[in-house]
Amino acid sequence: MNARAARLAVGSDDSASRGEAFIWSNSFDRPTLVLDPSIAVRNFHALREGLGRARIHYAVKANPAPEIISALAGAGSRFDAASRSEIELCLARGARPGDISFGNTVKKPADIAFAHRAGVSLFAADAEAELEKIAAHAPGSRVCIRLLVEASEADWPLARKFGCGRDMVLPLLARARALGLDAAGLSFHVGSQTRRAAMWVPVLDQVAEVWHQARAAGHDLRLLNIGGGFPAFYGERVESPARYGARVAKMLRDRFGEVPEIMAEPGRGLVADAGAIAAEVLLVSRKFARDMHRWVYLDIGKFSGLAETMDEAIRYQFVTRRDGEPTGPCILAGPSCDSADVLYEKHLVQLPLSLAAGDRILIRNCGAYTFTYASVGFNGFPPLDVVVI
Ligand SMILES: *Cc1c(COP(=O)(O)O)cnc(C)c1O
Repeated sequence: MNARAARLAVGSDDSASRGEAFIWSNSFDRPTLVLDPSIAVRNFHALREGLGRARIHYAVKANPAPEIISALAGAGSRFDAASRSEIELCLARGARPGDISFGNTVKKPADIAFAHRAGVSLFAADAEAELEKIAAHAPGSRVCIRLLVEASEADWPLARKFGCGRDMVLPLLARARALGLDAAGLSFHVGSQTRRAAMWVPVLDQVAEVWHQARAAGHDLRLLNIGGGFPAFYGERVESPARYGARVAKMLRDRFGEVPEIMAEPGRGLVADAGAIAAEVLLVSRKFARDMHRWVYLDIGKFSGLAETMDEAIRYQFVTRRDGEPTGPCILAGPSCDSADVLYEKHLVQLPLSLAAGDRILIRNCGAYTFTYASVGFNGFPPLDVVVI
């Protein structure tokens, strides 16, 4: 596939890929995520082309499979880590310490000290006490103050947990300087799975206002960290990474002018379509004789890898060998004995009427936020297995 064809394939539902071919031509005795790191690399290049001179720090938590980290490091990606073990993983897989940022705003002091010793020099904070920790355990480091942004239209908003209000930004920048830190910039996250680039507008407007205010107040801001939020295809059309990235880059130029350093932290957008899950139908049933819909129970559920079906926020695509036959609406559920283990109930899923126990089912675009969300043996069901091709 040439580069252009590859870009066009992203964002359509026709990503039937090496991974999907692998699933149909093999059998699996438990739910298995099949990963193709070359797709993450392709997405990395496309997004980098779109974003222009912004540096890309892959958000490791989206998919910490060592092969994904190696492939992205080999392609020139940098990394954003949230803990000591994510930093160790990146280092072991070829990342240079100077290319790793420690973006979690809630860090263990011992992890900060470890990062500092390892050569990591960029940290995020959204509170005075966190700045004090950084100053104590990583003196002189660069810090970004994370701003809480509102009105996110993301499918998986990060809500209010991270970031500080705009009235805290200037005092925190001043405090960072007083503590001997390099108060280099601002960071934010627009919300995960921000489906359309246009949804960045209100968020960038808020951040730009604070950015210009801080500069006017004498803070020498040089680094703008635009976080993640780059979308994946889950059934609703999304722009390709190159196009989406280019639109975000233009919005940044319009609002911020020439920022010396821009960085982005894509997670989902790089890895979601690098993985597909092989699963199995365990039971198809009706609860009442006249039910219009069926219940379809799979061997994978909320506790074994599909945590992002919480509130039905992320809507995965299902493929069976019976596609093309007449379909009907189904409630989809996982195998565990917890009544919360229902995947889709508000929005029913159309599946073939002939679907039966024992049928295989493939779940598309599961490369982000799946296998690390699997519980450790809840109900005795194995966590999601991972195979890298
Ligand atoms: C999770 C996270 C990201 C990645 O978000 P996506 O929506 O997957 O792109 C980026 N930055 C930070 C600080 C994060 O916590």
